[in-house]
Amino acid sequence: MTPSTSWPTGASRVVGVIGDPIAHSLSPQLHNAAFDAMGLDWVSVAFEVPAGRGGAALAGARALGLAGLSVTTPHKEDAFVAVDDPSPLAARLGAVNCVTVDGERLVGDSTDGAGFLDALRRQCGFEPAGRRCLVVGAGGAARAVVAALGDAGAAEVAVLNRDADRAGAAVALAGAAGRLAEPEDLADAELVVQASSVGLGDRGALHPLVDVQLLHAGQVVADLVYHPARTALLEAAAAAGAATSNGLGMLVHQAALAVERWTARAVPVEAMWAAAQAHAGGAS
Ligand code: NAP
Repeated sequence: MTPSTSWPTGASRVVGVIGDPIAHSLSPQLHNAAFDAMGLDWVSVAFEVPAGRGGAALAGARALGLAGLSVTTPHKEDAFVAVDDPSPLAARLGAVNCVTVDGERLVGDSTDGAGFLDALRRQCGFEPAGRRCLVVGAGGAARAVVAALGDAGAAEVAVLNRDADRAGAAVALAGAAGRLAEPEDLADAELVVQASSVGLGDRGALHPLVDVQLLHAGQVVADLVYHPARTALLEAAAAAGAATSNGLGMLVHQAALAVERWTARAVPVEAMWAAAQAHAGGAS
């Protein structure tokens, strides 16, 4: 998947992803698939950066002249503090997952929510405007999704979470559409987003507040988890006749938004999808 056998070159532009753990990350493959398809002499690599060193890593990116960095767990909040110019959305969320190096300045944005919506539109043809949405979870990923759904004009963004304080903070990000959810609200939601870390790496786990008996045909059920490709929730949703999508699409589309910001060029999302499916074992 390299543009030539001599790639990368002494002139290659470098981007990367920071996180811990990071060895499992698909981001370098996604970025490099895009650079390959775009014919750019750019390369993306993964950097394992321990908790507490995110700010130092961003300073290093500036010193080394990297073009940008994707930021994943546990550095999104530290990256928000370390950038010079956070976007208004990043400031609302207090988190940055995409850093663009612009000369001496670090520009920070949060593209998880936009990536989620792009994937939902592409995979399920779902447009949130005017729709009843329910988000399970209230961590960083859930907050990004709640804000994106509210900003996209959802009629309702209900949040179901174990910790009530965190749920309340997430609800506030959806503006007038936000409210706390009860478990039985699952039946009335047109879109259900599983945005907690339940199910990650564990095919059998279900969120304790989610009763899969309430799922039905006509709903769209999205799980941000993509390992495993089919979580217990998605299996149950598909069996109930609902449309389903896993988190691979969100990963691909937030990576596409990052490449777009770094290169200021149109991005071949299909090439990134192909790389994601090849490297994630055919997950969709
Ligand atoms: P986080 O900030 O640590 O939040 C974790 C959330 O999961 C919290 O709402 C927490 O509830 C809930 N939770 C954890 N264990 C639980 C349990 N046993 N029972 C009930 N609730 C539980 O994590 P995050 O960064 O938001 O990530 C959440 C998930 O999204 C992860 O699986 C991550 O891999 C995935 N993700 C995917 C993408 C993508 O591109 N597809 C991007 C970002 C994240 P409490 O608040 O009650 O503790």
